[in-house]
Amino acid sequence: LVSKLPHVGTTIFTVMSKLALDTGALNLSQGFPNFEPDPVLTDLVARAMRQEHNQYAPMPGVPVLREAIARKTAEVYGISYHPDHEITVTSGATEALFAAITTVVRPGDEVLVFEPAYDSYVPAIELAGGIPVYVTLTPPDYAPDWLAVQEKITDKTRLIIVNTPHNPTGRVWTRDDLNQLAALVRDRNIFLVSDEVYEHIVFDRNGESNRAHHSLMSHPTLQERTFVISSFGKTYHVTGWKIGYCLAPNELTAEFRKVHQFVTFSVVTPMQYALAEYMNRPEPYLELADFYEQKRNLFLQAIAGSRFRFTPTEGTFFQNVSYAAITDEPDYDLAVRLTHDIGVASIPTSVFYHDRNDYHILRFCFAKDDDTLKRAGERLSAL
Ligand code: PMP
Ligand code: GLN
Repeated sequence: LVSKLPHVGTTIFTVMSKLALDTGALNLSQGFPNFEPDPVLTDLVARAMRQEHNQYAPMPGVPVLREAIARKTAEVYGISYHPDHEITVTSGATEALFAAITTVVRPGDEVLVFEPAYDSYVPAIELAGGIPVYVTLTPPDYAPDWLAVQEKITDKTRLIIVNTPHNPTGRVWTRDDLNQLAALVRDRNIFLVSDEVYEHIVFDRNGESNRAHHSLMSHPTLQERTFVISSFGKTYHVTGWKIGYCLAPNELTAEFRKVHQFVTFSVVTPMQYALAEYMNRPEPYLELADFYEQKRNLFLQAIAGSRFRFTPTEGTFFQNVSYAAITDEPDYDLAVRLTHDIGVASIPTSVFYHDRNDYHILRFCFAKDDDTLKRAGERLSAL
């Protein structure tokens, strides 16, 4: 068999989480909470199962969940998507990303990817026969260089993949970023996939920064050509449920669903009913940013006396730190060594670059209970 993905191995998340498990290390690598979701939500699943919601869901998602997503989107962003033909429930954001990329990309099409990039984008592009074209975001601020983006756009550019708040860097796009992107795509036949799974995790919103999540749906020029993707995993602490969704204008959704129906057909039924009911409560997502800001601050305080250097992350539940003052080892080697030697697992950020460019930066996930964060901080500070 000739591999269709010759450059792909096992994902770094699988590798580091297994290593953490095998060594008993504190696992700050893969992005998932080490605490449980609201029992109200899990009770709703049990109830949905008892109410006989156990057979195939409709292909686009159960109607009550699509309606709840439409209501929430209108409330939070003031934009209306029609539940019947503009909202599709997917098996996590991962399936939505795969389906959206497959929907748009034809062999030979170029796709702009900002890197460091979440690891699922490029394989999906390559399986569709597309050609990834990279625009590098450079530390410390990881702001897109719009001139560089413009230079990379050609007649073959069919898609640009956006991720804000950004994994792994935590950068949150500004309103100006949206305007710059809109100016570049306005007169071109370019589509957008916007990965917004961390939409509710944006920090320091009351300070000078005036920071907020700016969804691509909030800009009309962008909205009409964008597949906006989110996931319940991050928002409700249920990464293992693998339920996400895609919002896109009617015509785009019609094509998206043709792919979705042959990737998974439909998504686990009782969880959809539970989520639909639970979405009536806005508190969980309204309080999420403060909840994680407290954790970010706790972790940063715990490593304040260490030799790691960092800029407080703007969003997501990831903190990048530079270890240049400690060692010049490659980041992958250091992540493995720290897991063995001090019992703290992290993610080497070079894996998010196609050429494995090593900036000597590790990513730590702070979606962990406070005690774990303090213990990890103590160990890291002793280096
Ligand atoms: N996009 C980004 C940026 C992510 O960080 C993740 C998950 N960690 C996903 C997509 C995938 O989300 P899901 O687990 O819902 O498939
Ligand atoms: N998105 C998670 C992270 O960035 C991992 C998800 C996965 O394991 N595929 O850590």
